[in-house]
Amino acid sequence: MQSTPYHIVCIEDEVDIQEIIAFNLERAGYQVSLAEDGIAGLSLVQSCQPDLVLLDVMLPGLNGMQVCQKLKSDPATSDTPIIMLSARSEESDIVKGLTGGADDYITKPFSQAELIARIQVALRRKPQSNTLCVKQVCLDPDDFTCKVAGTTVKLTSTEFKLLQTLMQKPGRAFSREQLIQTALGEQTDVVDRNVDVHIRAIRKALGEDNVIIETVRGVGYRCSNSDH
Ligand code: CA
Repeated sequence: MQSTPYHIVCIEDEVDIQEIIAFNLERAGYQVSLAEDGIAGLSLVQSCQPDLVLLDVMLPGLNGMQVCQKLKSDPATSDTPIIMLSARSEESDIVKGLTGGADDYITKPFSQAELIARIQVALRRKPQSNTLCVKQVCLDPDDFTCKVAGTTVKLTSTEFKLLQTLMQKPGRAFSREQLIQTALGEQTDVVDRNVDVHIRAIRKALGEDNVIIETVRGVGYRCSNSDH
């Protein structure tokens, strides 16, 4: 188990099944968030960007197939493993689930040990990504994109590098000079006092609801820890 627990969203409308799953996953060391219909589940996954989704097929609102297709067609969630849960065992449904982009498919009733084993396999298969996420802010250094709750926001390359440096070490305070050197290197013409201007621009771009850069008095700046 990694140091921060894997976060799993379970979208399931049968409350007793949901409770059993949540109880067992939490006991196994996972962090679990729950939704009871397709629409709430979709927005929960988009806002919290979990490591894996357990998705019931028969759901009110949007059904599991529709939720799966929406998650797989959104670049912010397309790599997130999805395990479908269904009471129906017909082969055609299994094929449909997998071609809809689901990574695995479990037929109810299933044992909790089997569920956890399948989750472990799906998490191991998850492609390694360099994406950095703190709260709702996700940076992808491979293509220089910044997303807030799944929506792309525009940053200049200097702003991107400063934010990346802060997000790589949540909780660590950087002086303005350290930030410039780490993010931009020696050859930059950005000077100490410009950092404040760039930080202000980054904060504005991320929006009032996504305050992840804290001012450390007498020192400089730090990124808040992802878990609070
Ligand atoms: Ca159901």
